[in-house]
Amino acid sequence: MALIVQKYGGTSVGSPERIKNVVRRVAKYKALGHQLVVVVSAMSGETNRLIGLAKEMQAQPDPRELDMVVSTGEQVTVGLVSMGLIQEGLKAKSYTGAQVKITTDSAFTKARILSIDEQNIRADLDNGYVVVVAGFQGIDKDGNITTLGRGGSDTTGVAIAAALHADECQIYTDVDGVYTTDPRVVPEARRLKTITFEEMLEMASLGSKVLQIRAVEFAGKYRVKLRVLSSFEEEGDGTLITFEEDDKMEQAIISGIAFNRDEAKITVRGVPDKPGIAYQILGPVSEANVDVDMIIQNVGVDDSTDFSFTVHRNEFDKAMDILKNKVQHHIGARNVVGDNKTAKVSVVGVGMRSHVGIASKMFRTLAEEGINIQMISTSEIKISVVIDEKYLELAVRVLHKAFDLDLEPA
Ligand code: ADP
Ligand code: ASP
Ligand code: MG
Repeated sequence: MALIVQKYGGTSVGSPERIKNVVRRVAKYKALGHQLVVVVSAMSGETNRLIGLAKEMQAQPDPRELDMVVSTGEQVTVGLVSMGLIQEGLKAKSYTGAQVKITTDSAFTKARILSIDEQNIRADLDNGYVVVVAGFQGIDKDGNITTLGRGGSDTTGVAIAAALHADECQIYTDVDGVYTTDPRVVPEARRLKTITFEEMLEMASLGSKVLQIRAVEFAGKYRVKLRVLSSFEEEGDGTLITFEEDDKMEQAIISGIAFNRDEAKITVRGVPDKPGIAYQILGPVSEANVDVDMIIQNVGVDDSTDFSFTVHRNEFDKAMDILKNKVQHHIGARNVVGDNKTAKVSVVGVGMRSHVGIASKMFRTLAEEGINIQMISTSEIKISVVIDEKYLELAVRVLHKAFDLDLEPA
C-alpha cells in the first residue's frame, strides 16, 4: 500500500465528463489498496473568468478581495470530484485550503505556504476516505483567504505530499510529461523520461508552465518523488523529476528550451556612474513588490552609463511610473525608455557545465535567422536571451533543431 497524492489541472477537470474520468482513475488506484489525496484546480478557463469579473468591478482589484473571488473556482471542483467518488461507491470528503489548514503568509495573489496541518487528512485516510483538497489556496494567520499565484495547485499538491511523506506526487495534466519545449509551439518536441530537479527548476522559472516553480522548489527541498503524467491516457510513465546524482542515464548537453512571452524591458539612460545607483533605481521598484528579472548595466563612459532590466509585462506600467516619477530626477538620469513587446528564450541543461561552445552556438543560430539579441544572461546550466516577441516562435524552433532536441538520444 502506498500513499499517493494526485493533482489534476484545469483541463483534466474541465467538464463533468472529464471529472468522471478523474474519478475512474482514483477508483482504480483505490482498488489497488492505495491511500489517496486528490488535489484539484478550477475548471479550465474559470480562474481567468473570475479575474475578468473582478476587473469589471475594479481595474486594479483589491488583492484581498481578488483572492476571495478567484479561490472559489477550486471550491466547486473539489465538491464535484468528491460527489463523483461517492457516486462510485467510495468514501470521499472535500476540503478547502482553509479547512485543511494550509497556512500561508499574507502576500495576496502570490502567497507562500508556511505550514500544513495534516491531522484531519491523515485521520480521514486511515478511515478509508479519499481526501479531495482545493489547490491554489490557503489561509493566513488572520484568517484571510489567500491564493498561491497562477498554476499554484501544483504547489498545493507537492506541499501536501511533503507534509504527509507521501510515496509519490503525480501531476496529471493535458500533456503526457515534460517535453524538450512546449509541444504547442514545436510539434517535434520530445517527452523526457527524466529531468533533474535543477533543470526543471530552471525550466519552470524561465517560463515552462507545466509545473509551477514553487512546486519544484518544494519537491527538491523535501525530496518528494514527483512525476508529470497525462490525465487523458490510461498508461504511460510520464516524466520523473530526478536528483542528478541518482540519474544514471546519459545526460544530454541541453535538456530543453524554455520561453516566456511576458517580459518587458526597461532602460534608464544616462545614469551617473557612481556607488549606490543600482540600489536607488531598483530599491523603489522592489518596494512596490515588482519582481525584477534580468539586470544589465553598461560599462560607464564619461561618468555615465545605461541601466536595463526586465519585469513581468503586467507590472510594466507600474514600474515605468515609479522610475519616471520617483527615480529619474532624483538620481539625475537622462530618461527612461521601455519596451513591453519583448520575450525571453532560454536553453537549459546540466551538461553545459562540462561543455563549451553552447552560448556561441545559440548566438550563431539566432544570428542566422536575423534575430537581434537585446539582453543576455547566463548561469551554470542556462543561457537566456531577450528578443523581440515577434521572433519568439521562430527562435524556439530553430534552437530546438540546432541542439538536436527533435532527435531521440543515441
Ligand atoms: P494544468 O492546467 O494541468 O496545470 P498547464 O496548462 O498549467 O496545465 O500546464 C500544461 C501545459 O504546459 C501544456 O499544455 C503545455 O502547453 C505547457 N508547457 C510548456 N512548456 C512545456 C514543456 N516543456 N513540457 C510540457 N508542457 C509544457
Ligand atoms: N486555477 C489556478 C490557475 O488557473 C491554479 C491552477 O490551475 O493551478 O492559475
Ligand atoms: Mg498548471
